[in-house]
Amino acid sequence: MTQPVVIVRSNPRCLAHDPGLGHPESARRLEVVLAALEAGAAGRWTVDREAPLPPDDDVIGTLRWIHDADHIERVRRASEEGAGWLDSHDCRVSRGTFDAALAAAGLALGAALDLANGRLQRAFLAIRPPSHHAERSAARGFCFFNAVALAAEVVVQAWNRPVLVVDFDAHHGNGTQRHFYDRSDVGYVSVHGYPAFPGSGGADETGAGAGAGTTRNVPLAPGADDAVYCEAFEGALEEVGSRLQPAAIVVSAGFDAHVADPVGGMRLTEVGVRRLSAAVTGAAERWASGRLLSILEGGFDLQALANCARIHVEELASTEVGKADA
Ligand SMILES: [Zn+2]
Repeated sequence: MTQPVVIVRSNPRCLAHDPGLGHPESARRLEVVLAALEAGAAGRWTVDREAPLPPDDDVIGTLRWIHDADHIERVRRASEEGAGWLDSHDCRVSRGTFDAALAAAGLALGAALDLANGRLQRAFLAIRPPSHHAERSAARGFCFFNAVALAAEVVVQAWNRPVLVVDFDAHHGNGTQRHFYDRSDVGYVSVHGYPAFPGSGGADETGAGAGAGTTRNVPLAPGADDAVYCEAFEGALEEVGSRLQPAAIVVSAGFDAHVADPVGGMRLTEVGVRRLSAAVTGAAERWASGRLLSILEGGFDLQALANCARIHVEELASTEVGKADA
């Protein structure tokens, strides 16, 4: 029997962030995801709950590619001070916030380096807090550091080949889009509710300068079902992927478009999540020799989140990786 190629990585430090006050982005999310992935593995993937992290100083140094040093320091100081709000009404900090956000970024950095060095071909990172709303100098939308942007940046810097970030979370990844907006080497594809938080992600936002045409947003009215959501995503993915010919795919894997989610406002079911996951896996096979790094974003109904994460990883594990390696 061959070894599973898909690795699920997490780290207990990601549990340390506790916004409290009944906040939907709780540590319980990660616990149910990991339990579902362990129960569903059946030899098809491995789950490493205590994946090693790069040294914190290395993570902080690399995070400066994505965030101003002042922002990193503000998150650290706010966490030292304990409970309170940072930058916006939805980012509540606890004493463990900096530690958790740094660990999440560390898992992304470690996996991106492993991918770039050929030690890893496909992984799902079960991390929190999430990533894609974090701006260069501000926390936003439950997100403090942008681990997805960090992973894409690390791979593209290592290889000097294009990377495609795809985002099927119910919300637009404003932070990720902004970081790569004028870049020709990193594409960004997002399908999301609109108008809705965070307010960006209109169809006319398509990149600028050298990055013109490398960003593709498909804004959808609230209540989109499997067919609408998946067709929009598949079309945008095909459009940008065939143009960019990425060497790796990085996924902002948010599951808050599920019909049971209290936040996302969409009507996706497990069938749709399987289809979205098959689309990103197919894109990785087609353009990137199977290389794919998927990173957990939103998803706030615990049962739906657990189901969706398991289905997503099942699809990542459904094909052989690297048969046509470049
Ligand atoms: Zn979301």
